[in-house]
Amino acid sequence: MDARLALAGTRTETTKIEITSNVSVGDKQLLIVGGPCTVEDLDMMTQSASALKGSVNCIRGGVFKPRTSPYAFQGMREEGLEILAAVSRASGLPTVTEVMSERHVEVADPIVDMLQIGSRNMQNFELLKAVGRASKPVILKRGLCATIEEFIMAAEYIMSEGNHNVILCERGIRSFDSFTRNVLDLGAVVALKQLTHLPVVVDPSHAAGKRELVPDLALAAIACGADGLMIECHPRPEESVSDARQALSLQDMCDLVKRIEPIAQAVGRTVPLAKPAPAKELVVSQTLQSSARNVGTTAA
Ligand code: PEP
Ligand code: MN
Repeated sequence: MDARLALAGTRTETTKIEITSNVSVGDKQLLIVGGPCTVEDLDMMTQSASALKGSVNCIRGGVFKPRTSPYAFQGMREEGLEILAAVSRASGLPTVTEVMSERHVEVADPIVDMLQIGSRNMQNFELLKAVGRASKPVILKRGLCATIEEFIMAAEYIMSEGNHNVILCERGIRSFDSFTRNVLDLGAVVALKQLTHLPVVVDPSHAAGKRELVPDLALAAIACGADGLMIECHPRPEESVSDARQALSLQDMCDLVKRIEPIAQAVGRTVPLAKPAPAKELVVSQTLQSSARNVGTTAA
């Protein structure tokens, strides 16, 4: 395989990629990306960010949508980018969105924190080169029928243009059984972790295609060494304009992150769960204790 930049070689550590000053991937803390398939309006994105803040460290939402039918909703496009920017400013969560053309890269790169290359574009080589010249990290999804070698070579295309911040995302591959939308290839996750030094995340939503399968697949992904997850969730999952069948509710997404915590701990990782606020009585009693000490000091 003629991959000179993506392969692990003698490196044993995963490369840590900084997404913002306080969110990174490839380190002890898992990257947990949550959010809807599609940015539908400001209101649903605001609701999503406020419910997910404290359970995820990145919010997703497609604004340029690769739909099977040209008559299906194609995304909010530039207006959607402004929504992502507003939601990120208000919540402090970094954002990721898919780009499908060089022009999308130009408009999205200054606004979002990560660019996503979707499955259908994994071998769009001119697009890979374009994100290779962009300033933001790239989440590269595995093509629907791509081999592990083709996947690594797609990462190499991006890296060879200068952008070394590539995160591989296993999202299921096509097979003969249509019960699940795709087959989640956790073997590839283990192999990619061994073959490359790049962070590897898993999207169980597009793999499963059914929301009831998503949580357990997410747990399995973390148990086998994934550096993070990308999961679709929505304030009203059944009403999602795209991928409704696989979307978790926002509450189910937050509950899932709590279930991931012990698995993460078992494999030496942490989840971005906000620490519960200290109990009120504790704060009160500490205040009382310190004023009691002050009283004591004054009296002495
Ligand atoms: C998505 O993340 O919304 C998406 C279209 O994913 P994929 O490219 O994996 O199908
Ligand atoms: Mn989707």
